Amino acid sequence: MVQMESSLNGPCAECTAKCCKNYVVAITAYDLVRLVDKVDSLDWVDVVKATSVEIPLAHRFFLFNEGFPEEYLLCLKRDNAESCIFLGKNNYCGVYNFRPMTCRVYPFQKGSDGELAYKEKYRCPVSWTLDKHARTQFFEDVEKQKKELENYGKWCREWNAKLAPSGNLKMFLEFMISKVKESG
Ligand code: SF4
Ligand code: SF4
Repeated sequence: MVQMESSLNGPCAECTAKCCKNYVVAITAYDLVRLVDKVDSLDWVDVVKATSVEIPLAHRFFLFNEGFPEEYLLCLKRDNAESCIFLGKNNYCGVYNFRPMTCRVYPFQKGSDGELAYKEKYRCPVSWTLDKHARTQFFEDVEKQKKELENYGKWCREWNAKLAPSGNLKMFLEFMISKVKESG
């Protein structure tokens, strides 16, 4: 469990953005919509084979290659495989206000006791200190992420069952954007 102390001291400001460099950043339909509204084009969207990363089955989707299904994960593109494409000079995030939920909640998750806890196997090098406001914000984002992942998983299943055999990545993205918009 994360210790609650006096204030959030902004450890990211002192860090070399290890999380933005070390991880493939998985995104959902919701992250897609939030970023599509702010960033021109879809050049920042990428997919990786689901076999190359650890990802829950629920968030994998099929694209067909010469008639054969392959499982993929939707993610942010990386810049020469060295960091997230949105990581700017001085290690600042270029889309900070619209960054994906996985970035918002990192390095936290909801622990088995229902409290905020560090993610397992996280690589964040610092011990965070959270004041009440920061703690509440992280917790709300963790809960929001959980709901978004549930819906995204449901829509991935729908895509896989009905649309994947005759679909492509562009159609998958359009399908996901329409699902978020329909859901209000
Ligand atoms: S979350 Fe951790 S690893 Fe990522 S930028 Fe902040 S301090 Fe660095
Ligand atoms: S979107 Fe921003 S916070 Fe998230 S990995 Fe990329 S640069 Fe880092």
